Amino acid sequence: MSFSSLGLSAELLRAVSDRGYAEPTPVQSRAIPVVLAGRDLQAAAQTGTGKTAGFTLPLLQHLQKNPQRSRAPRVLVLTPTRELAAQVHESVQTYGKYLPFTTALIFGGVNINPQIEKLRRGADIVVATPGRLLDHAQQKTIDLSHVEILVLDEADRMLDMGFIRDIRRILALLPKQRQNLLFSATFSEDIRKLAAGLLHNPEIIDVAPRNSTAERVSQCVYLCEKGVKRALLAWLIGSGNWRQVLIFTRTKHGANRLCTQLQQDGIEAAAIHGNKSQGARTRALTEFKQGHIRALVATDIAARGLDIDQLPHVVNYELPNVPEDYVHRIGRTARAGRAGEAISLVSPDERGCLRDIERLLKQELPRATAEGFRPNPAVLKPEPDNRSAHREHRPQPAHRHESGWHSRSGARGQGQHSARRRNTGRSR
Ligand code: AMP
Repeated sequence: MSFSSLGLSAELLRAVSDRGYAEPTPVQSRAIPVVLAGRDLQAAAQTGTGKTAGFTLPLLQHLQKNPQRSRAPRVLVLTPTRELAAQVHESVQTYGKYLPFTTALIFGGVNINPQIEKLRRGADIVVATPGRLLDHAQQKTIDLSHVEILVLDEADRMLDMGFIRDIRRILALLPKQRQNLLFSATFSEDIRKLAAGLLHNPEIIDVAPRNSTAERVSQCVYLCEKGVKRALLAWLIGSGNWRQVLIFTRTKHGANRLCTQLQQDGIEAAAIHGNKSQGARTRALTEFKQGHIRALVATDIAARGLDIDQLPHVVNYELPNVPEDYVHRIGRTARAGRAGEAISLVSPDERGCLRDIERLLKQELPRATAEGFRPNPAVLKPEPDNRSAHREHRPQPAHRHESGWHSRSGARGQGQHSARRRNTGRSR
């Protein structure tokens, strides 16, 4: 299957080819013809599957093929987070670069006036988070009565974040006659209910069963005491000579603390979470993408939808409470078919979460251990469910890069360290 066989216009094919895509991803080859045909769509597709181009390309083509005079927005894309909104907006600009359409990016946490000015000048496509969009609607700085296509991106996360009432209020402002596209990583009961009230005779596509990302990512678990996580993480980064790693913590406070500790250990790090200003978050992400920052420490919500090309390493410094979030987290790596590695540092108090995650994945995650960070026997003992503990895990060839760690780390593990990874001590 090629992009040209999907019926896309010459301008869009050129933009796709500039972007360097050789062929459509599965979600693109399924979704694009449906959207071009004007049908409603319900798609199960996570970030990383190429879903953004899957809806952006055909909606641009719709605008191209159906010219209108209205200066009011004709396409509305709703996303749960500012970061995702910014990334979708960037994609719209990338794929639409040979087309004359105007776009506006609308999210909270920044001055509203430039957005008002932008909307006043006219925007064919608006990419927005729900709260700020409603602010504009209330101030009558946006007219949503000409929207022809509505996209709900990462709808499941919007519901998780409590946006359902905002979404319903926005829906009430849209014309009844319109095309609706709903993308969601999972089809929970709540999503089904939302879809039932929103979509008309939708085409349903499910190209990315929930665990497909998980299957592509090389995953492993280090069972360790809480107190050695910091040193183990610094060792992993140093000994593996990782240049770019996304690290998850549960709390904003934890993200800040870990960020400071990594800096003390000589690893350039930044934290992104909801308490950081939009400017600080964007700056951190840019520096991370450019390679000035090696470690980006994030909470689940801040990291949602981050699109970082070729992100090779994800570390769960703490496991998420909700098992589905584990799948979202590790979906940050191994994107669009590339290989990636996800490592979880699991302390005894997190064993319940680990079991829930393995139940969801229907797989036991391989255990790994680093010399010098072996958990004491009590940590390993109560693990009756996991029979795969002997498997060896070698996340990547161990580059010897110990100098930084040894000379700068404040917190040490137990005993000496060596740049060697071994299978867990169940066979001790
Ligand atoms: P998305 O799921 O939309 O966030 O896209 C995930 C990543 O896949 C982004 O970095 C895209 O640039 C990339 N991507 C999208 N479509 C393709 C394609 N057809 N071939 C290769 N990479 C793609």
